[in-house]
Amino acid sequence: MTRPVRPSPRCRALFEELSLYLDGDLTTDRRRKIERHIRSCACCGMMNQRLRLTVAACRAEAKRRPPRDVMARAATRVRALIATRVAARRDRG
Ligand SMILES: [Zn+2]
Repeated sequence: MTRPVRPSPRCRALFEELSLYLDGDLTTDRRRKIERHIRSCACCGMMNQRLRLTVAACRAEAKRRPPRDVMARAATRVRALIATRVAARRDRG
C-alpha cells in the first residue's frame, strides 16, 4: 500500500498552472520551476502524468471526425439556414 500524498499549498498553486504548463503557455522561468517541483514531489508528479494523459486523450478525440450522416445532416441544416437568410434579405428589398 502506498501512503496517500497530501498536496501542500504550494502544490495546489502549481495545479492551477499545470494545464498552462502542458499547453506550453508558461514563461521559461515558470516552466523550469514547475519541472523542478514535479521531479521532487510525488503528488504533483502523479498529477502531471494524469493530466498529460487526459489532455492527450482529449486531443485525440477532437481529431476524429463526426460520423458521415451527422456531417450530412449538419450540412443540410446549414444550407437551409443560409437559404432562409438569403430569402429574407431578398424579401426586404
Ligand atoms: Zn507538489
